Amino acid sequence: MIAEAIAKLRRDNQLPVDPQVRGPVPLNRFFENGNLSHVALPGLTCGRVTEYLLAEGGTVEPFGAPGEPLAGFLYFAGKSGQAFVNADDILPRRRFSAAHELGHAVLHRERMGRFRADTSETLLEADDSTDEIEREANRFATELLMPEAVVRARAYELRTLHKCCPFGVLAYRLAAELLVSRQAIGYRLKNLGVADAE
Ligand SMILES: [Zn+2]
Repeated sequence: MIAEAIAKLRRDNQLPVDPQVRGPVPLNRFFENGNLSHVALPGLTCGRVTEYLLAEGGTVEPFGAPGEPLAGFLYFAGKSGQAFVNADDILPRRRFSAAHELGHAVLHRERMGRFRADTSETLLEADDSTDEIEREANRFATELLMPEAVVRARAYELRTLHKCCPFGVLAYRLAAELLVSRQAIGYRLKNLGVADAE
């Protein structure tokens, strides 16, 4: 279901997976084409989001627990949405958070209500959240940012050149190419079983 949603999103945006092309997945293009804007706020909390939306001229009621630290937040007004990430997080983490919020927008728009607040407990690169909706959004972020075809192609290149595919080397290269964290790509490689055991 998630793989299909991503395949459709890629078709709609004319951004197919092409393992010949190196570099990170162009997340901004999915946002631009999806009526979803992207905002990075330092010290992200529901309170900060409320302040931001009020300063933009919106009329919003306060969301959730105002002071709870957040990793991501998704808000809809009519058809357009805003995905917030924590500007204090490092880039690979911010990209994962943004992709997770995009996942909620694509998969859960009908079910999620007006907003979704994500803490570091729900927004997990390890994909083992206990909440089904969160697990799906984490899965979505993983599959979008680290396409299986790209991971397999890079593993194949290593194996062809060196007759082996060390886990650490592949993880390092893919984290750098795809701008994802070493942990996130580590989980992905383990799940796909493409690298040699460490
Ligand atoms: Zn979430």
